[in-house]
Amino acid sequence: MGKGARVNMNIRKNDIVVVIAGADKGKKGRVIEAIPSEGRVTVEKVNIVKRHQRPTQTQRQGGIIEREGKIEGSNVMIFCSKCNKAVRIGRKILEDGKKVRICKKCGEMLDLG
Ligand SMILES: [Zn+2]
Repeated sequence: MGKGARVNMNIRKNDIVVVIAGADKGKKGRVIEAIPSEGRVTVEKVNIVKRHQRPTQTQRQGGIIEREGKIEGSNVMIFCSKCNKAVRIGRKILEDGKKVRICKKCGEMLDLG
């Protein structure tokens, strides 16, 4: 990771996040992909971009394909189901030395496993 790059490494694939800035502000969805090197993420149903698809041999129709575009990782916050809102991520080290992410507000573990 380069110096000065503001990369939100706290968000991972399959996290449930809330968009806190931009055109999709307020939307909630599951992280499809996290790209730490770019500091960006794709989130289900967020930042849908339409792409024109040319007809191919297997798909003769072609047409318009909708898919999620990348958004800045700093524009999303993790959703805590216990607090029922977007929260800051805290860190905790378990007895076995494993580092986990927790909700800074209520302490709920956010790692899925
Ligand atoms: Zn919480």
